[in-house]
Formats: sequence, structure tokens, C-alpha cells
Amino acid sequence: MEKLEEKKQLIDYSDRIIGDIQGDYPGPTIIAMAGIHGNEPSGIEATKHILKKIKDNKTSLHGRFLGLIGNIQALQEGKRFIDEDMNRIWFTSILDKIRRTPIAEILTAERRETKKVLEIVDPILESAGNENPVIFLDMHTFSAEDGLFVISTRDERNITLLAQLSVPLIFGIEKALHGTALKYFQNTGNIGFAFETGQHFSASARKNATAGLMCLLVASGVISASDIDDFPRYYDYLNAQTEALPHKVEFLYKHIIEPGDEFEMRPGFKNFDKVKKGQWLATDRHGKILAQRSGFVLMPLYQDQGEDGFFIVEECD
Ligand SMILES: [Zn+2]
Repeated sequence: MEKLEEKKQLIDYSDRIIGDIQGDYPGPTIIAMAGIHGNEPSGIEATKHILKKIKDNKTSLHGRFLGLIGNIQALQEGKRFIDEDMNRIWFTSILDKIRRTPIAEILTAERRETKKVLEIVDPILESAGNENPVIFLDMHTFSAEDGLFVISTRDERNITLLAQLSVPLIFGIEKALHGTALKYFQNTGNIGFAFETGQHFSASARKNATAGLMCLLVASGVISASDIDDFPRYYDYLNAQTEALPHKVEFLYKHIIEPGDEFEMRPGFKNFDKVKKGQWLATDRHGKILAQRSGFVLMPLYQDQGEDGFFIVEECD
């Protein structure tokens, strides 16, 4: 635990723009956002690594690659959020209000952070077209051990792009999570998805995020695999991490935590663990919480902040 505290303080999160490389040729704009949750910095390290790699290699891009930090204040304080979850406020009307309100009059830390993010992404979204869309990837980690997956809509363009990465795709989560950044980008006619890369602060989450980002840049055509001498290293690594996992799963069920519930997940659950209907998964002040459906458990909650206790998903086509 001590190590984790040290690590939090070693990282400088003050620059919102991690890096921005404009290619010599036209192509999509990849926006990688990391740390929209302040206890999830792995994506920032991964984005830094890839930006450095591109610069060192003098790789020419088809399109643009922009790395952004989400919730700077929460990252600096090592908390998931300060006042409210920054990934639950991306409703068009709330964003409109945030844009119209002077920053000094905005009441929550997360809405002030979002205003700063919008100042950067709004002009990019305005100039994006069908031919060269924005590909928004929201990088997350979770509190359980192991696993990596992508949360996506069933939009054809998403599936075509993401099928090139050997990472499990989770569909239908948008039915249970509202106000997410990925859904907002998707609604603007662009491509948006979330990449959940591993346990908070773990080396594997950072490595998975790095490999996933590199593979996405190649899959989207922003960089050519042949321009990165050790590209197979990234690709093979990602493959090895996901070999045993299902390819596509569909959302079935979410356990909602309400204030005062005193929710506690039973220890030992990992992403994609098989669960049976009726199995004892967690406890709250009213007693045992049993699985309402059979399937795979996803994102079992082992941290204090958060309103989603666990998800249950099933394999699909
Ligand atoms: Zn997150």
C-alpha cells in the first residue's frame, strides 16, 4: 500500500494534454482520454509511452493522435472523484450548461474539469467528418484483479475496428450506464468506446493499455505496422492476455448500490469468472446478495467509491 501512495505522488498530472501529434497525411483523429476517474492513471503512462515511441521512431501518422488527461484534481488527490463521477455527466444538456457557465460559477470539480476537456475536444468534433471521424477511447482500470475488455456500442464501425484487436467486446453496458463520455462521442456521429485495461495502478493494466493503444493506432490506419519495428511484440502480448477470454459478451444485469447499503463484494471474484443464478456474490446491510442471472461476472467492486456493485454478462455473437 505504501508503494502505491508513493507512486501517486511521483506522477505529475498538471498538463491536460499528454501529447498531440498531427500526421503528415489525412486520417482519423484518435483521442485517448485517461484518468477521467482519478484513481485510474495507468492509461496516462500508456499514452506517454506510445507518444514517445512515435516521436523516437519519427513515425509519420495518417491522422492525428491526441492524449488527454480527464480528472486532474482527482488524480492529484488520488480519489476516484471529488464531487461527482466525471463519467456520468456527459449528457448533451448538461454539457451545454457547462459550456455556457463561467468556470468560476460551476459548482463541482468534475464539471470544471469537463469544461476544460470540452474546450479542447469541441473544435476537433466540429471539424471531424464521415471520412475522417474522431475515434474516442476512454481508458479505465477497475478494482478487481485481472482481465481486460472494451465497452462498445453495436455500431457497425465500432465492431469493424475493434474486431481487429483481440480484446473481448462488451455490448449493452450503455443500457446500464448513462452520461458516459463514450456515449457522448458516439452520439456526435463519431466512434467512442471504453478500454478497461486491468486493476488500478497495476503493471499489467499499464502494459495492456500500452499494447491496446498501439494495436488501435494500427487497426485504425493512423500508423502502419511496418513503421514500428517491434509491433509484433505489442500485438502478441495483447493476444496472450485475452486468449482464454470470451470474444463478445452482452450485458445482462447490474447490481446498483444505493447510499447506506454498505455493499461488500465477497472476496476473490475476478472479471469473467463464471457465476450461477442464486450464487452468493456480495453482502449489504439487508443480507446476502445472490446472482439474479447466470453468466460471467464483470467489474466486481472492491473499492469504496462507486455505485455499480457488479455486472453479469453472457457470451453472444
Ligand atoms: Zn473508470
